[in-house]
Amino acid sequence: MHVLLNCTFLWFFEILMMSCHHHKSAMNITFIIQSFIILTIPVLPHLVVIICKKTHNKNLFSVSQQTHTHTHKMSQQEQKIIDLQALITVAIEQTKKSYCPYSNYPVGCAVLCPDGKIFGGSNIENASYGLTICAERSALAAATSLGYRSFDAIVVATKDGGSCCGNCRQFIREFIAADSVAPIVMVKSDRTITKEFVMETLLPNSFGPENLNIPQPTQKLE
Ligand SMILES: [Zn+2]
Repeated sequence: MHVLLNCTFLWFFEILMMSCHHHKSAMNITFIIQSFIILTIPVLPHLVVIICKKTHNKNLFSVSQQTHTHTHKMSQQEQKIIDLQALITVAIEQTKKSYCPYSNYPVGCAVLCPDGKIFGGSNIENASYGLTICAERSALAAATSLGYRSFDAIVVATKDGGSCCGNCRQFIREFIAADSVAPIVMVKSDRTITKEFVMETLLPNSFGPENLNIPQPTQKLE
């Protein structure tokens, strides 16, 4: 405000001087500059607000760009996970190959490998009962025998959508990290999903390779 008053005073002084026609050309330039300053000062706050808003919007834009990228990454992950229908088909097909003369409880399983390959397995019972192999372990054994060491999804199919046994939960944990978001899904023979887990809900506070200082296996062996 002090500056404004000073400038205004000079402005009026120069108008006075110009009216006396002394040093006309030099005074004209100073007069134009000072007029510009005096006329600009009142609108300066508005200019500052406009510039700030533009900068703020620019920041908002870059944040939304980041969000967009993040969403894009999330959707790619979802797309990778989402092909559950193919897994459900394989798991249900595997129930038809089950060998279960004792329990008459067919189980099929499908596991999804990081490269998109799907392996199936069925429960294989034994007259000694104790040697019975569950469908989950059959499928995981088939895949790991070919070098796979991690899985993106598991589907288990039974007639009533029953859940994994405790043994299989621990077996799955060997190849799926405790904090993995890979879905582990139970379905009925009509394809209805009855239960959906991730590793932490399938086997909370689990014991795993890292407890024995072994890194979670991830790389496929060639
Ligand atoms: Zn089992």
